[in-house]
Parts: sequence; C-alpha cells; structure tokens
Amino acid sequence: MKQLEVLLPGAFDHGFDYVVPETMTLAPGDIVSVPFGRGQSLGVVWGEGKAKIASEKIKPIKIHHSEFPPLSIAMREFIAWAAWYNCAPLGAVLKMVLPVADIAKTGRTTIETAIDTDHLHLAKLSDAQRKAASALEEPIGKGFSVTLLDGVTGSGKTEVYFDAVACALQRTEMKNWRNEELKKKDAPIPQFLNSSIPQFPPSQILVLLPEIALSVQWLERFEKRFGFAPVVWNSQVTPAQKRAGWQAITKGDARVVVGARSALFLPYRNLSLIVVDEEHDGSYKQEEGTIYHARDMAVARGRFEKLPVVLVSATPSLESYHNVKTGKYKEVSLPARHNHAVLPEVEMLDMRSAPTERGKFISDKLRAALAQTIASNHQAMLFLNRRGYAPLVLCRHCGHRFECAECSSWLVAHKGKPRLECHHCGYTQPVPPACPSCGAADSLHACGPGVERVLEEVHEFLPQARVAVMASDQLSGYQELKDAITGMQEGNIDLLIGTQMIAKGHHFAGLAVVGVVDADLGLGGGDLRAAEKTYQLLHQLSGRAGRESVRGRVYLQSYLPEHPVMQALLSGDREAFLQAELQARENAHMPPFSRLAAVIIEGTKEDAVIRTTKLLAANFTVTPSQPPHTPSQPSPLKGEGLSVTRHLSPVTLLGPAPAPLYRLRGKYRYRLLVKAARSINLPDFVKGWVESVKAPSSVRVKVDIDPVGFL
Ligand SMILES: [Zn+2]
Ligand SMILES: [Zn+2]
Repeated sequence: MKQLEVLLPGAFDHGFDYVVPETMTLAPGDIVSVPFGRGQSLGVVWGEGKAKIASEKIKPIKIHHSEFPPLSIAMREFIAWAAWYNCAPLGAVLKMVLPVADIAKTGRTTIETAIDTDHLHLAKLSDAQRKAASALEEPIGKGFSVTLLDGVTGSGKTEVYFDAVACALQRTEMKNWRNEELKKKDAPIPQFLNSSIPQFPPSQILVLLPEIALSVQWLERFEKRFGFAPVVWNSQVTPAQKRAGWQAITKGDARVVVGARSALFLPYRNLSLIVVDEEHDGSYKQEEGTIYHARDMAVARGRFEKLPVVLVSATPSLESYHNVKTGKYKEVSLPARHNHAVLPEVEMLDMRSAPTERGKFISDKLRAALAQTIASNHQAMLFLNRRGYAPLVLCRHCGHRFECAECSSWLVAHKGKPRLECHHCGYTQPVPPACPSCGAADSLHACGPGVERVLEEVHEFLPQARVAVMASDQLSGYQELKDAITGMQEGNIDLLIGTQMIAKGHHFAGLAVVGVVDADLGLGGGDLRAAEKTYQLLHQLSGRAGRESVRGRVYLQSYLPEHPVMQALLSGDREAFLQAELQARENAHMPPFSRLAAVIIEGTKEDAVIRTTKLLAANFTVTPSQPPHTPSQPSPLKGEGLSVTRHLSPVTLLGPAPAPLYRLRGKYRYRLLVKAARSINLPDFVKGWVESVKAPSSVRVKVDIDPVGFL
C-alpha cells in the first residue's frame, strides 16, 4: 500500500507516514485529515512516505478535503523556507497556514464575494499621486519586485496604493508562471483540473496593517472607495468568521484581505499583490510562539509567489531605506502633503530650563497651547507611552519599591483601583495600608506619569474640556476604540490622551496641536534601534497634526533637546537623520550591515538557566571553514547600551548577559546575541550551535532571528 508523508500543524520538524486508502488519489499539497493521538488532525500531503514501517501498522488517511485547492508548490516552498529562516519547526509554520481546526465546517457566516471590478470608483488624485499610483501599478503581473512608497504623513499614500489595489483587482487572468508551475512534475494536475474549483481564479490582494486600532478608519475608507468590504483577519475576528474567511481565501473567493501579521501565512489561491502599510512598525514582529517579522516574510512570500510587494511608510525602517539606497527596492516618493496642507511646526520644550512643579507633567507653555487650541474650537492630542496612573509606587519613608512577584518590573498604579498591576504578566496585588517593608502608614507615593495621571492634570487646568483617553487597557473592545475615533472625527472630543495607539495612521481633520509629554521615553535601554524607533514614533505623531486647513503645531517636552533624534524632528531633516543612523550602524557593523540572532534562555530554575547559558557560550565556535578572527577595534556605537566590539570576523558572540527583564512571568532569562556577516548562513549556524547543547527540560532556548526588541 502506498504511504505518504503528511505534515501536521504543531511543533514537528517533519511529517508522519500515513497509508493512502485505495479510494483516494492524492498528491503533494493536498489538504487531508488524519488520525493523530486519540483524535484527528488536519494535515498537508508533503511528499512520499519514508515507508520505514510496514503499512499494516500505519493508520490510513481519513479525509481528502478536495473542496479546497491543494497548497501550491510556491506555498510549500515558502513554508519550508520560513521554517528554516526563523529556526522554527516546519509544522509550526503550517499551523499559521491552517489556523482553523474545522476547516470543512459550514456556518452561517458568509463572506461578500460578488465584486464588480469593472466599476470601481476612481479617486481624485493629484498629479503627484497619479504618478506614484502608476509606478505602483506598473509591476503588477510582472513577477517579483519590492517598491517602497515613501511619503510624508498626510500625503495621501492610502489613496495611492488603493489605486494599485484596484488595478490588481481587475487582473483576472492566470499568470504565466502558474501555468509553468502546473507543468512541474509533482504538481497536482488531476485533482486541480477535475475539481469544481474554477481553473482561473481571480486575483487576490493582501493588505497588512500593523494594528487593529488602525483598521477602523481604513475600513471606512476602503468601503467608500471600493463599495465592498474586504475580508478582515485579526485577533478581533470570531472563530466562525475566521473559518468562513479562511475558506474564502483558500478557494479564491476573498478578493481583498486586510489583516494583522498572521494574515500573511494564509493559503491564498491567487495572490497578486501584497501591501505592507506602516512597514516600519514594530508590531510586525511576532515575539511570542513562532518568532518572525511579517514585513520580511511578506517580501519573501512575494519572491516565492513571484508577485509585487509594496511597502508603505512616512518613516521607513532603516533596513528598507538601505535597500532602496542599494537598489534592491524601488522607491516611489510623495514629497508633499495633499491639498496644500503644510507640515506642522515643531517646538522643543526644554524641561531643564522650565521644569514643572512636583507631581505635574505638563509645562506652562504646553498648557497654554492646549487651552488656546480648545478655545478656538480645534482639537489637541497628548501623547505618553505609559498606561495606568503611575509607573512606580514607592515608600517615601524607606524607599521600598513595589515590584512584580513574577517579573523584574515595577507595579503600575491605576486610578480608582485599589490594586497595583504588572503590565508584563498581569499580576496584581492590593495597595497595602502601610509599607510592607518599614511599616510606615500613609507613606506610599505614586511616582511619574501615566496617561490616567495626565488626564487628572488636564481636568484641573481645563475643567470644561471634553477629554478621552485611548490606551489599550482603557479600550478593552473594538467598539470603544471605534467610539473614541468617531468622537474625534465628529468633533465630540476636544483632547485625546493616549499611548502609541494614537500615533499611527489616524486622520483627524480638526487636530491642530500634538503635545508629547515625555519625548525622551524611548531613548533609554539597551536597544540598538532606540533612536530609530523614537524618531519614527514622534514623527508619526507629529504627522497627525494639521492635516487639513489648520497649520499643526507639535510640542516636544524633552530633557535631551540636543539629542540627534530631537534635532532631526526640529529641523525636519529626515534624510540627514537616516544617513547619520545608517553611518553609525555601518561603523558598528550592525544591521543592516550585518545580521543578528538573539538566543533567549529561560526557565523557572535559575541555576539551570545559568548552567545552560554557560554551556551555550562555551560551545560557541566558529567553524574552521570560516575565515579566522581579525583583531577587534573599539566600538563607535557609544551609549547604545550594547557591549559591542567591532569584530570583522564572520560570526561573533555578544553576551551572555541577564536579559533586561531578568524575570518575566516567573521565569529567569538570559540573552546571547550572535552577530554575523551577511554572507553567513545564520539560521543553520545558530541552529547547529543551539542544538549542540542539551538543555534540561525546565529550560527553554528560543531563537529570534533579526531581533527587534531587546528585552
Ligand atoms: Zn517603607
Ligand atoms: Zn509581572
């Protein structure tokens, strides 16, 4: 009897052999259900079976889900590549392709699929926008390419790429390469042609957005422009909607999909264009479970499926900027704001020369600007990237600080809640009546500001203002988020206070002033990208102001006004900042001029974690086939918090060091960082090294290729 290897979703590096029942004809890529453990699992036929065990002892494949097209060769190659690149099990990547268990179940949730692509509304574009749109449309249907749509905030980038989406929607022909693919030896031609699935599926477009918060206004704009709703794929979608969405995506009925990073791995039938909006955004990096960067995976998918990828940003990542400079990516720029709106004026408020009184966080100048803005019927925004009331509570008498019992982090005070809360793990404890350390009563003091404290301060000096807070703990649901955005749009809110959720993408016509309570907040810590990330965030935030008739003003409260990031924001010279940042990275031989892989060792037993870490460090050897080390030079990357020495050797180990968050959710954590020349096969090197050490069962060793966060 014939045996086939079936790959199952889960932490498996390889598939399992199953027997093919005589009634079934199967080929690689086919989606099947097989018995597994005590139950049943979905799976994908991956290849010929190893046939190491006699067929009588092997279970047969139960169901061939022939109503769904098989995974294409390009898709299977992409899965294998993504597993290799991210040092992840093959089955873990397949789990992202098949994220619903009961794929065949039909429900009442339906997906709108009847789309009139002949009568798409044409947007009124300016000449510059029209030119940019044509440049994005040009590569559609012509294989793989990456284009960076680089435009200042408010330049109408969304409308421009909507044009490219419309163009891709009108392409219905099957691309040549797909015909080529069908001719390949293991292509599942018989099933493909015999099934009821249309042979020439219409094109599909995927748009990735970094956060759900962004999708509210995006969906409104999309529906207005296209007259239909795209399929939404994110964590807010119900299981029934997910299943219906997956079915429509797989069969090719879903024409446009908008989603968070996980939408990238779905088995589109005929993907023709991928747009990654706000490509610089850190939330494209998946940090839990299978670690990957969705922007980089989108580019890879484009390469495997031979389709154009459009990256969109007003503040491109240094990596994408570098890829444009070196000619790897094409660039389309939109240098001016739409409808003659001018960029906001940036004012630096030096907090050293004009400090606020104790327990207050908004300077007199910013207070006056807010009051004036609201008095003249415009809107304002206050930004502080800290949730809760105060980030730290301490005893004024003995200095005792309240720390999480599970993490190396302070407990956050929340207004009106008698409990202190950890923002990393959710641990809470009641606020005690007296200090647990010295016993002093009434000695506890809330230190520093969170958005709730800023709200309290605003209520004091602007008692009449209609104020709303937008921070992820305030907005437990999508509806509340929608209400806050609608409130801003319709002018029912004078002042919006929020965390980074308010920085991105929103378009509020009446917004005249943006105040940044603590512009320096992101610059601390041992993060290689601290300056880049802070610049992007503050620049995005500034871009919210004055998008229509009003000239916007931005106030940055800073204790480091001389910092290059602050200077770049003040002068508006983005190019100079990016150039300087790129030069610093090159001098330090840091990405994009080298590659990094972080290895995180964590476990509940501290001694076992330390032992494993030491073993890993001791086992780190550069294989003899690689060139020998050259003498190291001192690091030009001063003040970046990383103990970097400039090795010109192909692979260098940095660390071990305790992770900045040494304890997280009760686990002890160490970090090792591998730096490698771009020519090195980093995944294979790291995998071989990590697997050379057998960690005890209480210790987990995680590999993070191209790390973005350094906690
Ligand atoms: Zn005390
Ligand atoms: Zn905690």
